[in-house]
Amino acid sequence: MKCKLCLKEKPLCKKSHIVPRFLYKGMFYKGDNTLIKLNPITLEKERGKIRTGIYDKDILCESCENHIGKFEDYISNELFEGTKNYSKKSSITPIVGNNNLHKNLIKGLDYNHIKLFCLSIIWKAHHSKHEFFQNVDLGKYESQIRDMILNIDPKEENIFPFAWFYYPEKKISTKALVPVRKFRLNNISISYNLHINHHSIVYKISKDNNSSLDEFSPKKDNTFPIYSLQGKTAKTHFEKLVGLKYF
Ligand SMILES: [Zn+2]
Repeated sequence: MKCKLCLKEKPLCKKSHIVPRFLYKGMFYKGDNTLIKLNPITLEKERGKIRTGIYDKDILCESCENHIGKFEDYISNELFEGTKNYSKKSSITPIVGNNNLHKNLIKGLDYNHIKLFCLSIIWKAHHSKHEFFQNVDLGKYESQIRDMILNIDPKEENIFPFAWFYYPEKKISTKALVPVRKFRLNNISISYNLHINHHSIVYKISKDNNSSLDEFSPKKDNTFPIYSLQGKTAKTHFEKLVGLKYF
């Protein structure tokens, strides 16, 4: 079969995780190890059947799996616990906004890696047949994003920008996987919200003059702002993003 990334006829992996496994950490019910997922209508937590996270087959050949794996390893090491003995090159500077909204500026985070890491998740979601990702259809932009990932060419900051939000509190039901939602940002741009485990990544997958996500996206000077939201601000924002209140 043809690999979706390099387009070569090759044996394909039977298990490609759409969202890398480290993002699932702590997301399984203790005991039966089933996944905590969230019903986006009721915001009730449910048990997903998936025990190791969502994966799909026949998307990538082994060398392309490893190619994307390099972005994932880098982000796992720089922003999450990653591997032991890894010495992080990036640092976080908290920039206080108000009580409920904090900007955390990550410095020294490689632009290529963070951009292609996030784009590779939505690109894999496009190719997945799993119901969680059924709303993802990159349309004519699929091949452009494929080229960017394959050629390690993240392009300009305003090409397919995205924002990363973090909801650290346990009070609201953000520790869950929510089916990816497609919506029009500011009634203009085709956008997706991917939510997993206290984190939401909001992508703009269109080319238009709506620049509202640009300031949130990674910068070529290797900085990236991650916003953490708490309290009522977090609740309202999260409910909007998962589709309970529309933009
Ligand atoms: Zn390949």
